[in-house]
Amino acid sequence: MSMHIPFDNSYARLAPSFYSKQAPDRVTSPSLLAFNTDLAQLLDISPGDTDEMAQVFGGNAVPDGAEPLAQLYAGHQFGNYNPQLGDGRALLLGETIGRDGVRRDIQLKGSGRTAYSRAGDGRAWLGPVLREYVVSEAMHALGVPTTRALAAVSTGETVWRETGLPGAVLTRVASSHLRVGSFQIFARRGEITNLKALTDYAIQRHYPGADGPMGLLRAVRDAQAALIAKWMAVGFIHGVMNTDNSSISGETIDYGPCAFMDVYHPQTLFSSIDRQGRYAYGNQPDIAVWNLAQLATALIQQLDDPQTGVEEATEIVHAMPDMMQEHWLQNFRAKLGITTARDGDLNLISDLLALMAQDQSDFTNTFRSLGAGEPRDQFIDRDKFDAWEANWKARLQDEPDPQSLIRRSNPGFIPRNHRIEQMITKAVEGDFTLFNRLNRVLSRPYEDQPDQAELRHPPKSDEVVQATFCGT
Ligand code: AMP
Ligand code: MG
Repeated sequence: MSMHIPFDNSYARLAPSFYSKQAPDRVTSPSLLAFNTDLAQLLDISPGDTDEMAQVFGGNAVPDGAEPLAQLYAGHQFGNYNPQLGDGRALLLGETIGRDGVRRDIQLKGSGRTAYSRAGDGRAWLGPVLREYVVSEAMHALGVPTTRALAAVSTGETVWRETGLPGAVLTRVASSHLRVGSFQIFARRGEITNLKALTDYAIQRHYPGADGPMGLLRAVRDAQAALIAKWMAVGFIHGVMNTDNSSISGETIDYGPCAFMDVYHPQTLFSSIDRQGRYAYGNQPDIAVWNLAQLATALIQQLDDPQTGVEEATEIVHAMPDMMQEHWLQNFRAKLGITTARDGDLNLISDLLALMAQDQSDFTNTFRSLGAGEPRDQFIDRDKFDAWEANWKARLQDEPDPQSLIRRSNPGFIPRNHRIEQMITKAVEGDFTLFNRLNRVLSRPYEDQPDQAELRHPPKSDEVVQATFCGT
């Protein structure tokens, strides 16, 4: 049976100023490394044979109905505005409407140079491709809104970074690839007709109930506030929260130097290029507000009365910190088994986190052990923990079933950095056992899976990953 993707491409129907159309570059010998059959089913894709899928998801064959294009956008990178970015190593093949009625993008990442590649080669190597595959699928299983991974293909070509590395292409699926930077580029250039068209498009696609640009701003704020609180709750550090990596749909996008925290500390940071710690774990809520302010600045350019617009936009942005705090509290209450809201909750949570930071407790294992296990073992200052635990137990008194809520809210399994690094090292040697195992185990992160206990261990001292790198 040959592969069929039911494309329906709305973005390609926008004006040519939104993109640059082109086919993916050919690769020497594409080979299918992974294909996500569950996701394919959701997208209503009928898979073909392995070779056909390798040709399509490696970029050698453009499937019927696809209209490949590189999307134009700009963005603030580490606070500095870059007037033109765009898909430099990615191509949107098109969109499908899934069995759930949701429209999604299907994008090749690593498919060759585009009109927006600047000095880049448009390619990706195996490491970042497998990393994004595993981590984005793990995020999905954890219940965090995210882009997904449909396929990974090795190209048989060498990609040159500091050394020669095996090339690969990731097929990424997203609710859309609209970013804050997609709006910034038209606003900054004064292209108001395009800005208005993009605003209408985003509203129709993501937030059909939203009323105009300020309605869109409000909806993006709500989605981003919920998203960032979920990152905080699972110990996820995005690593490069530039405005071009900030999605309008409220999904996690761009798994470059991202990482999950092992030892808890608010200033945890892995990205090798983030010297100031701008995107450290504890800064993520503030950065999300900063990014929303950039979206606000872009959106108001199209209003007839910018002055009133500024006031309304300011109000919308200023409400975001409290909103995020509310989501954060809700997430962390659940992590402690609490279903109701009481005044002392913020202190209860903060006290635990402060103790964890002081004692260098493992974030994931400490929370998980509150539901089953020995949380005391995660602490050095056990008297202090005992005192905290007594408060917590008192708080839990009226809760009907805190244990099961705790276990549903605290994963046993996260894609730990050292495992990801080991997985990549093995894959480069041609061994995909750990890649497949991680995908399997991480698809059920809240289950005990006692035979996989090894994957719950924090890194040994010689396994600790010190730095992560952008996915280039
Ligand atoms: P990122 O930080 O990964 O979101 O990438 C920022 C910008 O750099 C985007 O416009 C990317 O398309 C572009 N880029 C990253 N890597 C490459 C590459 N290898 N070739 C061309 N463009 C790239
Ligand atoms: Mg990006």
